[in-house]
Order: sequence, then C-alpha cells, then structure tokens
Amino acid sequence: MDRFHATMTSHLYGNPHSASPSSLRATEEIESVRLQALKYFGFDPETVDLVFTANTTAAIKLVAEAFREHADGFRFGYHVDSHTSIVGLRALANTSTCLESDVAVEQWLDAEISEDRSDQLGLFAYPAQSNMNGSRLPLGRTSRLNSNRRPARTYTLLDAASFAPTSQLRFEDSVVVPDFTVLSFSKVFGFPDLGALIVRKDAAHIFDRRKYFGGGTVDMVVCVKEQWQARKSGPLHSRLEDGTLPIHSILALKAAMQTHAELFRSLDHITKHTTALAAQLHQRLSALRHANGQPVCTIYKDKRSTYGDIRTQGPIFAFNLRDGQDRWVSNTEVEKLAAIKNVHLRTGGLCNPGGLATALDLAPWEMRENFSAGFRCGAENDILNGKPTGVIRVSLGAMNTRNDVDRFVAFIEEFFVEKSLPSINFGSPSSTMTSHLYIESLTVYPIKSCAGWQIPYGTPWDVHGEGLAWDREWCLVKQADGKVLSQKNYPRMALVRPQLDFDAGVLRVTLAGSAEELTVPLSKDPRYFAADTSRECLANVCGDTITARQYTSPAIADFFTRAIGVPCTFARFPAPGRTSPSSRHSKPHLRRHANQSRPPLLLSNESPILTISRSSLNRLNELIKAKGGKAVPAAVFRANLVVAERPPPLSSTPLAPRSSAAAVVVRENPWAEDAWRGMRLGGPAGPVFDFLGGCRRCQMLCVDQESAEKNQEPFVTLAKTRRVEGKVMFGVHTAMRQEEESGQGSSSRAVVRVGDAVETWQDFEE
Ligand SMILES: *Cc1c(COP(=O)(O)O)cnc(C)c1O
Repeated sequence: MDRFHATMTSHLYGNPHSASPSSLRATEEIESVRLQALKYFGFDPETVDLVFTANTTAAIKLVAEAFREHADGFRFGYHVDSHTSIVGLRALANTSTCLESDVAVEQWLDAEISEDRSDQLGLFAYPAQSNMNGSRLPLGRTSRLNSNRRPARTYTLLDAASFAPTSQLRFEDSVVVPDFTVLSFSKVFGFPDLGALIVRKDAAHIFDRRKYFGGGTVDMVVCVKEQWQARKSGPLHSRLEDGTLPIHSILALKAAMQTHAELFRSLDHITKHTTALAAQLHQRLSALRHANGQPVCTIYKDKRSTYGDIRTQGPIFAFNLRDGQDRWVSNTEVEKLAAIKNVHLRTGGLCNPGGLATALDLAPWEMRENFSAGFRCGAENDILNGKPTGVIRVSLGAMNTRNDVDRFVAFIEEFFVEKSLPSINFGSPSSTMTSHLYIESLTVYPIKSCAGWQIPYGTPWDVHGEGLAWDREWCLVKQADGKVLSQKNYPRMALVRPQLDFDAGVLRVTLAGSAEELTVPLSKDPRYFAADTSRECLANVCGDTITARQYTSPAIADFFTRAIGVPCTFARFPAPGRTSPSSRHSKPHLRRHANQSRPPLLLSNESPILTISRSSLNRLNELIKAKGGKAVPAAVFRANLVVAERPPPLSSTPLAPRSSAAAVVVRENPWAEDAWRGMRLGGPAGPVFDFLGGCRRCQMLCVDQESAEKNQEPFVTLAKTRRVEGKVMFGVHTAMRQEEESGQGSSSRAVVRVGDAVETWQDFEE
C-alpha cells in the first residue's frame, strides 16, 4: 500500500489512448506490468497473451462466451473438483460431463483425440488445485491433447485461482501450456482486485467470433445511415479488454509484485514454507483424540494426495469435527467460536459442489433434499439427516507462521476436544424447589435487536400467543437490501434505547451518550406511513419474509442511520393476531411437542417469549469467574422473562455454611429449565405457557448491552459447558398456551406481572 501510494502521489497517469504525456505513461506502464505478470506466474510472453479481467470468474466467462458463438457449439468436460465458476460454463455447452475420477478424465480425453466430431469444439476444464481441500491435479494433464495440437478441436482451460497464491505454475514444455489459464491477482497479493485470462496465442482465434465490441475493442464504428465497424486488430488483449482498463489497479499490481518479491523472495519459497506448515497442521489435526480415544477431525483429503508433497497437495484443509460420541459438530458453532477467537476460516459448501459431494458422500437426492429442507449456503441448520451439509476450510498462505498453526490447534483443543469423559448432565434437577419460583423481571424489546425496556414492578402486562405486548413491534430495515438489522452485525443497536411512554402515547428513543430524543406515536397514525400499501417493505428476518410498514419521515430514518452508522429506515410490524398468515412464521427446530398446535410466531426470530433462569445465570457466572472472567448481567441474554428462585424460609437455612459460595449454589437449581415442559404464572387462574425448546445462542451474547463492545464471554464458557448436540444453549423458548381457536375471545388475553409466582411442571400434560 505504501509503495502504491508513493507511485500515485509522484506521477500523473492518464486514460490511455491519448497523446498526452500522462496517457502515454499509463499505456507504457500497463504493457510492462502485463509482461511482468506473465513472467511472475511462469509464462513465456512469446507463447501467451494476458488479458486483464475483474476476477477469475470474469476470465472464465470470456472463454465461455467465445465458445458459445461457434456454429456447432461445444462439448464440455470438467473435473469434479472444479469451482462453481467453472461448473457454470456447462450452462452454455451443448453437452457437458462431470469427470469424477482420473480414469474418467483419461477416457474423456482419449475420446476427444480419437473421434472425429466435425466442427464442434471441445473444452476440458480443470483446477490446478482444488479450492476445497487443496488436492493438486497434474499440470501436464493436457499434454496428450496438446501434442496432437491444431487442427485438434479440443481446448484446455486451467483454473489456477487456488493454486497460484502458493505455487509457481511450471510447465515442462510450451506444448503443455493450456490454451486458457485463469487466475486472480487478489488471491495472490490481497490487493488489487484484479484477475487475468492467459491465452495461448495459437488459440486466440477462438475469440474471432466474439460479437460484442466496445470502446477500446473497436477501431472504427459507423452508426449514421450505415452500420459498420472495424474491430481492433493487434494483440488479443486489445480485442478483449472492453472499455477503460483499471489503470490504477494495474499499477497497484506492479507495486504488489515488487513488495511480494521483497517479502517472500519467490513463489518457490512460499511453496516450501506453506508445505512445511501444512504437513505440521495435518499431522497435529489428525492426532487429536477425545478422552475416550475417538478422533476429533475428519479430514477430507484426496486418496492420492499427501500433505508435505507439493506435487499432490496444497496448504488447504477441508474437514469436519466429531464429538466424543461420534456425532458431527455443527459448523455454524465452529464459525461462531472462531469469530470470537479471531480465527478466520470458512465453512459451508465453498463453491465446490463436486468436491463437497465427494467428500461428504452426498448423493444428488440428498443435496436436493437439503435444499428443499431450507438449507442454503451459510444457513444455521447445517447437519441434516445425520450428515454435515458443508465442511470447515482452513488455508495457509505466505504470511502464516508456525504460531498460527499452534493457535489453531489450541483453538480446536479448547472447544472441541473432550478432555474428560462426559460430566455435564442436563435436565435432571430435583423438582422440589419449583414452587419457590417467581418472575424476577419482565422485559420487552420494542425495537427488534435494540435495547430492552423493563416493565415496571407490579404493572399488569398483556400477553398473547405472539408474546408480550409491545415486544418487537418495530424494527430497523437496511436500505441496501431490505434486511432487518440485527445486533449480531450492528452491535451499536444496543445503544438505541426505546421507552414506552403510555401517558404521552409515544415511543421515546434515545441513543446512549447523546442528548437527542426521537418520539414516535404509539398509535398507528397513518400519516406517518406511506399511503400506498405497495410500499410496504418486505422485511427479511433470518431468512423469513415478513411485511412491515415503513415510516416515511426522513428525520426518523436519519436518526437511526446516524445511530447505527448504516443507511436504514424505521418500520412497524402488523399487529399480532390481526394479520395475514404470511406475517407469522415458525422455525422447524422449535417443534418439540409433536402434537401440539403451533403457537403463531411473530418477529422474535424463534419464539414468542424467551425465558431464562436466574439460577442458571448464577451458575454460569460462577463458571466464568472460576476461570478469572467477569460475570455477565442478565441483559446480554435478551430474555423477556427472568425466572428466579426465592430463598427457602430462613428457618430451614443451616447457619454454618453461609460463608461458602458452594452453599449458595446448592440452594439453587440451575438448568432446571432444561426439563420444564410448562408453567403457570400468577396463581391457579393464571395463564399457562409451554416450553418449546432450548434457545440456540450465537456470539451476539458477547455484545455488552451498556457499551456495545464485544467480549468473549459468556459465549466461550457457554460453549464449553452448555453444548447440546453441537448447539450452544441458554434459555428456553416459551409460548402462551391458547385455548382451542378462541378467536377474539377473552381467553386468549392474559396479564403477567413482575413478582408473579411461577409454577412449573416437567410432564407434557399439566
Ligand atoms: C476463488 C476461485 C475462483 C473464483 O475466483 P474469483 O476471482 O472470485 O472470480 C475460481 N476458481 C477457483 C479454484 C477459486 O479458488
């Protein structure tokens, strides 16, 4: 960056194509960077030309579109380890084949050489290295095609995007240089964002039929009265680089190559370094065992690859974790913990559908079933039918060190290796204390994901099937994509403090640390909303689409935009219970009671009401403090209901152990909520609630609700002590039980108060 900055501040570069000194300087630099880049990656500028593109995918598309223009189309064969960007070429081909093994590749290539297929072209594409697990394919793979060179009609496309950052492409002989090679400079240098298509000059004719031309790729255009144009002749790059080149990015590439060479000397040094690190990491991950001897990591390595061997394996790992009971660990949880521990890794399908299916042994029907079960890249539910739907990937690069390897192994050991035989026991509390329970606090979150508002002591509060009145009545919607904002991505939302002022009939919103106050009527005053209902926004909450009405006032939007620091608007959800079914949504993982009629859910992500137990929070804080951490307040859990245990009558408290902390723990029943199935609030005539299941937690717990700063606790301790089937749980989803289709009847309305007695039971029936 410094070198680039120095170049930019000491010279003026103009748009090429003029005779000005600045323009000429730019043209000259671009042509020299082009040659340097070819040499950097091991190509001979005599044999090939380099076309600058936006990224690897753009380079692949240039090839794809050129082939599509050929009269008889083309046959396409691609290696099973190909990246999605290569697989996508098949949509343009007449026929396509996914080549699932070395044998299949050989057979396909043999057929290409021997069969006479008239004018139709053939294209074989393969990655130099799998971006999923780093396995490397022989670079000389296409030698047979190429030694039978033209007039052969089958061409080769090498995807070097994953390979190039840690290795020099080396072709024994110019005969085996692929017709097309694609790569990304940003994957090698980090900056600039630029890719390349490298084309053999003797294959350049493939682009002769390209139809599009634009400024830069045409010499003369006649539009008036006649339509005629003369395309650019000259080197291939001048025929394919439409429009103004990314001049400054190309200059940055020059700076990047110089700096890279100074830092790392050569790609060969990088290869040595990363190969050694990868061999170490592989050895250490494979050796990890749980206390009972079960392996921890399942590494998806190609059969013919060996970590440490540069010909067959690059420094990339794809793997999954299993717990001591041989069950898969959810990658979503791995990702959450990695984020907290500042480990940068990726999970999921990794844009490598063939590699993933092979590694996980997923049949097409399973992938389709996963898709129809709602699984998408990045979804929370990543283990379906007992199989993982994705993998964890870690990659090592030039800048990684041994310390990174140590740190990563320590991370896996800390959270995923069971050091002693299972000791945590969920849901076996003694049930004798439950009659001492009461509601310690009631909180509503008038604006979803913003600060909560505590219901004053003794105030009767309406509760209905969708939750507490005024809970998540409003939300903030990101202007860019219509998504409902969440504190997970915007911790500053914790600083937005709404208050319900019923005397004045307004919602008051303040921002911590600022004197400004916004007031919005509690009533749904139509003047505040767009009259046109087609302007209702479709708000997206965790993948579900819900309608919300947007406020039109620029002042309101401006207040929140400044508060959060991202362009957003304020919106109100339709009233619960009186809206179309589309405004309700449910989450399949909450279905715990098989035959219970589902309570309607509104906007609270997962359930109408979230209940936590003070006793469990106390226990958690003991655990945090035992490791030298700082206790967390109940607010981080963003519950609606905090249920606490009243101390037993004094007479039954033994006097002696008062000084010991253990005595306090003994008195309480932490985790009793794991076994609760239902509860009644406020005495025998009070409303009845069902518990729908545990609440799965994420790193949002680590946002300090006072300062909006991120910590590691309580998620780290929870992850170590409260992981159930791979999910980190705290609190229980709760819904008020409604009488059978009571409609507008009074029985679906009830009130709760802080201080109400809580009676729980563990059976499904009351
Ligand atoms: C990253 C990658 C791509 C896509 O590259 P972009 O530059 O993001 O378009 C294609 N193939 C492989 C092997 C990759 O690793």
